[in-house]
Amino acid sequence: MIIDDQHYDVIIVGTGAGGGTLAQKLAPTGKRILILERGDRMALEEQNRADVDVFKKERYHAPEQWYDKAGEPFSPQTNYAVGGNTKIYSATLMRMRDRDFTALPHQEGIAPEWPFQYADLEPYYTAAEQLYQVHGSAQDDPTEPPHSGEYPFPAIGHEPLMKPIVEGLSQQGLSPTVLPLSLTRRDDDPTGDAEVFGIDLALKHANVTLKTPAKVVSLHTDPSGKAIKGVQAEVGNQSIIFSSDIVVLACGAVNSAALLLDSANDQHPKGLANSSDLVGRNLMKQRLTVIVEKAAVTNSGDFPRSVSVNDFYWGNRDYEYPMGHIENSGGLLRDIIFAESPPLLSVLAQVLPGSRLKGLAINSIGWWAQTGMLPDPKNRVRRQKGKLRFEFEPNNFEAHDRLVYQWIEVLKKLETTVDSVKSNTVFPRGEVPISVVGYQLGTCRMGTDPTTSVLDTHCRAHDIDNLYVVDGSFFPSCPAVGPALTIMANALWVGDHLCDRLQ
Ligand SMILES: Cc1cc2nc3c(=O)[nH]c(=O)nc-3n(C[C@H](O)[C@H](O)[C@H](O)COP(=O)(O)OP(=O)(O)OC[C@H]3O[C@@H](n4cnc5c(N)ncnc54)[C@H](O)[C@@H]3O)c2cc1C
Repeated sequence: MIIDDQHYDVIIVGTGAGGGTLAQKLAPTGKRILILERGDRMALEEQNRADVDVFKKERYHAPEQWYDKAGEPFSPQTNYAVGGNTKIYSATLMRMRDRDFTALPHQEGIAPEWPFQYADLEPYYTAAEQLYQVHGSAQDDPTEPPHSGEYPFPAIGHEPLMKPIVEGLSQQGLSPTVLPLSLTRRDDDPTGDAEVFGIDLALKHANVTLKTPAKVVSLHTDPSGKAIKGVQAEVGNQSIIFSSDIVVLACGAVNSAALLLDSANDQHPKGLANSSDLVGRNLMKQRLTVIVEKAAVTNSGDFPRSVSVNDFYWGNRDYEYPMGHIENSGGLLRDIIFAESPPLLSVLAQVLPGSRLKGLAINSIGWWAQTGMLPDPKNRVRRQKGKLRFEFEPNNFEAHDRLVYQWIEVLKKLETTVDSVKSNTVFPRGEVPISVVGYQLGTCRMGTDPTTSVLDTHCRAHDIDNLYVVDGSFFPSCPAVGPALTIMANALWVGDHLCDRLQ
């Protein structure tokens, strides 16, 4: 074991939406910052691949296996690279709705209130949208919460294929709007990710060091047990211990929890920061179902998502509980999650030659139905005999089913008014399998009471003064919109707090 002879002010572990965003926020402080990332930089030709390749299973999966509740192994769709999952995300950056932060009744229970409210995070949402160059319009969606600033760029328009469909939706009295998207406009990397807008900006400062591949395997506490004194990482074939005044985990909700549990010691026998026994628990991921609609005209199969519908976000005439968010999947040949989901394409993908598969994809339009779920302490990440267990049962069934069936009704009506969609009798659909873990949240929930939460309102561990967690772990509840912008905004909020603390 090597003990690194440098001492840093801050170590950040992980470079995704949380870690990358925080790194660029702290970099101008001039403090000595070390970033440890287990993956490497992704080769450009691997990025943003839009081809039948995305249907070939296990692209963009981590090179390891996790184990479900029954002990069955699966290969998680999660990306270990500089930029984390933002290197492969769809770059849809939506704000949570204001009521999402409140104690929100669902049919199966109440989603817990957050320790801060929408108004507290709002300035950080605006800052995150500026940083990630979001193209959007906040005008037309009745559920959109107030914005203190405009989006930095106007919304990207809909594909010609989608325009009549959007008009048809409006004719039904719905309020389709454009999805806010982060785009760099660079040909070599069109998505706006945490490598480009986080790590690369941070590394412009001489006080910031990035080490890759550097997998952190354990955290060591000082004799008091109240502070982290060492961060142990595998760097190449060496085991090195780094030290810093402040340690920030941003490994993603599953890996940050696993690291805390793996770092158990005599003073923290259940794992670090785990006096509440909540580390790893309340694991959440959205209910995500894709619905396929056959089109009467072909499309490129390679266009970005653009349509957002939130008319059923809080329920409908017959159902008083939140149902969720609808968006189109964009061209099916570039939707990485889609490739694993619908019965139609994922099964056929294994047997069909690329040309037939492409034919199917370019004659279809995909829609995502996204519903939140409730935290459940039985849904958890834990380590058993060295294996990472991802013990997860979905909940909030009726809300999600109602959203899916409501949307199929909308699509059926569309067929009577829009020429570009076929008259479909069936709408193939499928919910994402357990291996789709990109929307993982909640394993170190944030709160004011150390007996019912792991982190305080600035994502500092209640039990360990110099330890923070800024990835998706902190979410007390699971919204129906994508979590990435909230993770980025929260990282900026925590960043403000850390800038004060580091002075
Ligand atoms: C295909 C796909 C599409 C998506 N599309 C959207 C979308 O359109 N909109 C949206 O809001 N969300 C989307 N998401 C979800 C979004 O990408 C995640 O919510 C977000 O990236 C999570 O940020 P994070 O900081 O929690 O973790 P991540 O972005 O996963 O970053 C974690 C980082 O930590 C590193 N790491 C892990 N363990 C260690 C360790 N032990 N030592 C060192 N480094 C470590 C990883 O390599 C990674 O770089 C999508 C996800 C996927 C997979």
